Amino acid sequence: MKRETAQIKTALDESVDLAAFAENWLGVKENDDVDVLLAEIFLEEFKAQMPRLATSYIKRIDSELVVTQITQRTAAWIEEWSEELGRLMKLTAHREVENLLAVHLHDGKSVAELARAFMDSGTREEYYRARTASLTEMLRAHSVAQQEAIIQNPAVSEKEWVHTGSYRNNPRENHAAMNGVLARKDQPFSLVGADGSLYFPMYPRDTCLPAGESINCHCIHRGIADADMLGLSLEERKRLQEEAIAADDGAWERERDASNMAQAGIEENLLTNPRKDNIIDTEGLNRGEDDNLRIPMDEAKYNRCKTAFERNGGEIVSSPELNEYLDMRGADAITYNQYLIVFRHGSSPTASEFFEEFIHTSQFRQGRVSTGITVELEIEAKEKLIRNQAQYGIPDHENEQTKNQLRVLYQILNNER
Ligand SMILES: [Zn+2]
Repeated sequence: MKRETAQIKTALDESVDLAAFAENWLGVKENDDVDVLLAEIFLEEFKAQMPRLATSYIKRIDSELVVTQITQRTAAWIEEWSEELGRLMKLTAHREVENLLAVHLHDGKSVAELARAFMDSGTREEYYRARTASLTEMLRAHSVAQQEAIIQNPAVSEKEWVHTGSYRNNPRENHAAMNGVLARKDQPFSLVGADGSLYFPMYPRDTCLPAGESINCHCIHRGIADADMLGLSLEERKRLQEEAIAADDGAWERERDASNMAQAGIEENLLTNPRKDNIIDTEGLNRGEDDNLRIPMDEAKYNRCKTAFERNGGEIVSSPELNEYLDMRGADAITYNQYLIVFRHGSSPTASEFFEEFIHTSQFRQGRVSTGITVELEIEAKEKLIRNQAQYGIPDHENEQTKNQLRVLYQILNNER
């Protein structure tokens, strides 16, 4: 910041008049990297503060849990928002100079007068510090930390928006109306903005909101604890906390992939409209009918995933007896619950088979399976396989099979309705 001030001062000193400075100014602006430096400062600050803040929030519900690791989603937010803040502050500083320049040009003043006005314009450094420590940014960081604590806390499944601050500022009617509104912890709230638009903030002062909805907003959000979970042992809660981080990281990766693909226009080529297409493909729902095409998944990947699954209490089993059971059910693999997967004995699973069952374990873990895997959950799993083909290492011909299976499933779904 001192460097930026010095650079602007130098440009002022080197300019014979205001017109010359106006020209020099463009060069100063272009070479000004104060945004990058500020972003680094913010980044360090956020990185240092986030686990500490999140820990203080998680302890409000579970005094024994500690946040030592933050989710990829929050880490990404920290990086992006640090950059954005640096950029915003540089922009504000530049506007300040340009406003002064405009006034001085208009009043026919000299460059010396502009230089004086610039140096007196206040305590540029204090201005930066004030902005850095602004209440809105501080409260925003607290919201992000609270959300991180909520996501990591296995005892929390819902969150509540709480409107406060009416005692010190004019309450926004639309925020007051949010008081007591609940949302699933990984889902956004719906907020009708002052401008009448619908917004989907994960928490008060979410950066997805326009500035007008965040500045001077004193709302908070908090997690609602499920009593049964708190009764689990600390070891179990810690394990679930790790799982929660992994689940959020997984969701975050999938969302990012989906948005990357959407940006690349790939989504267009996927089966986004089969519900309307009414296509029935005669290929069956079972894979591997042509054994020549059966490619076992990459062994290293298989072992890595299996180990991770087992580390989290999961088990993958297969035996000749279980094959009979699979035959009876007409399946190549079955997920019993979030911890137990059965694969066919004597043949290594393909990448599609393997990951499809893993997806089903998450559906179990999310408590979305009651009697069995429904057509909707089956469709969701197949769609994920297609979306993450590259990541999972699924060969093209298997991907085509999945698409065909999906068509049949969509048809079944249509007939059920
Ligand atoms: Zn508010």
